[in-house]
Amino acid sequence: QFPLGRRLPCDIYWHGVSFHDNNIFSGQVNKFPGMTETVRKITLSRAMKTMQDLFPGEFNFYPQSWILPEELSVFVEEVRTRKDSDPSWKPTFIVKPDGGCQGDGIYLIKDPGDIRLTGSIPSRPAVVQEYLRQPLLVDELKFDIRLYVLLKSLEPLEIYIAKEGLCRFCTEPYQEPTVKNLHQVFMHLTNYSLNIHSGNFIHSDSVNTGSKRTFSSILCRLSSKGADVKRLWSDIISLVIKTVIALTPELKVYYQSDIPAGKPGPTCFQILGFDILLMQDLTPMLLEVNANPSMRIEHEKELSPGVFQTVPSPVDEEVKVAVIRDTLRLVDPQKKKRKDSHLSFHTYLLIFPAQLQSLHAGIAGMKDKQHKHHSLKLSLKLCQSLEQAREASEEPPATPRSPEAALPSPCLKQVFPKYATQFSHLLLVDRVASLFIRFLGVRGTTKLGPTGFRTFIRNCRLSNSNFSMAAADILYIDITRRWNSMAIEKESGSPGMCLQAFMEAFFCLAEKKYKSPKLHEKVSLLTQLCESRLAALHRKRLVWGCG
Ligand code: ADP
Repeated sequence: QFPLGRRLPCDIYWHGVSFHDNNIFSGQVNKFPGMTETVRKITLSRAMKTMQDLFPGEFNFYPQSWILPEELSVFVEEVRTRKDSDPSWKPTFIVKPDGGCQGDGIYLIKDPGDIRLTGSIPSRPAVVQEYLRQPLLVDELKFDIRLYVLLKSLEPLEIYIAKEGLCRFCTEPYQEPTVKNLHQVFMHLTNYSLNIHSGNFIHSDSVNTGSKRTFSSILCRLSSKGADVKRLWSDIISLVIKTVIALTPELKVYYQSDIPAGKPGPTCFQILGFDILLMQDLTPMLLEVNANPSMRIEHEKELSPGVFQTVPSPVDEEVKVAVIRDTLRLVDPQKKKRKDSHLSFHTYLLIFPAQLQSLHAGIAGMKDKQHKHHSLKLSLKLCQSLEQAREASEEPPATPRSPEAALPSPCLKQVFPKYATQFSHLLLVDRVASLFIRFLGVRGTTKLGPTGFRTFIRNCRLSNSNFSMAAADILYIDITRRWNSMAIEKESGSPGMCLQAFMEAFFCLAEKKYKSPKLHEKVSLLTQLCESRLAALHRKRLVWGCG
């Protein structure tokens, strides 16, 4: 700890709340820039909506949501239409203020007309969500699962999930929502911070009783009743990977603005808290993602009325200590150094063939003889180094005894890139975000200016007789104005087109250009087209540069 300020560079920086230090030029930081903003209720809902539009059916683990106030009329209309077509439909909705936590300001409603518009909504935007009425109950109580997920790296994407998690229980027996019980928070909300104040909260030293238990103890119980626990885990892994993929485009925009590529800066990792609700049929549903999950391993105990003492919480300790220990293990700079000394030649082997290929293609197209000769010599040198690296890598390095041998077996399990192939089609949004980032121009921004958007249209050759540059300008102005009027924070109301607005414009262009019935096919075709035109332009510029 550096209470008086930090003087020396560190290997690992462990920040309490968020990435906030612009004076870090090396090492690893435990927070990503922009993570807090990215997982806020509204931003998460928007990211999920984009994915639900692109990949219908693949993101139904997130409850149907509307953003208030901007989608209030859509919400009212959709509910009315559905009620008209199905009079037996008696839904309940949960209203959650944006940026809130620990159940703060949350309430349940039966009818859109019950949204508390006075005062709070205009100043405090919120998400209204379909209330999941049939959660799995244990001992008649509703509970949710807090799972810890380590985002070890954004580029390349590396995700780990903790095998153990926490189950947080309500303290009143659950009943499906009725007008009479809507206000009973101890029955409907699983937040520890709320239920701790109920007289029924049970602190237990055992992991399988009380108001906070380990996830494995619940799994054990389910498995003894014949539930397919393996399937449940695979559904949870899929939920986590898909959610992180939905969040990465926004994160990459923040990342490049705070840590520009090619300049000295730290790398980032972050422990996230995923809140998941299990349905009666064991389908996991995502409630929210926490950028700053509590890592406390003690709780307050009331010894006598009004007298509190902080005491260790064995359940928290069992789960959280392992998560932090494994995170440090994975980002251990010493481990990286040891690994690098073994792997450097493998790195050569992977990189050189790719470089040679493009180099050879470039040389073949060269007109200037002297240049061609020089480039061929360089290519030969690369081949020689490749050969030497190959020989050297065949000699196995001496393996020093790993200091990890003494540690308990890891609780963090890698799920990405391990299962990457099943999810690679979802990275389409990432590719659209890469196009956006490419045209941001001046580093340090997160919004695209009108010139950047025009350059994007021009360089990708998207304007034609049906879509003039003037039409592109109008598209930019229309979409940007609308998104900026919906901005949540003051600073995000700064001029320019944010990523979500760019996505909307991109989808709009894809709809105009292609006739295919599926949105993701159109977006995929347009992405390919833009990528290939930009690559051609890049090659052309290289040749001009060489000439
Ligand atoms: P907060 O950040 O304030 O904790 P959450 O989104 O986690 O907000 O919601 C608080 C609690 O409300 C959750 O722990 C869960 O018990 C309950 N909850 C939230 N969303 C839903 C939903 N869609 N259906 C049923 N219960 C929900």
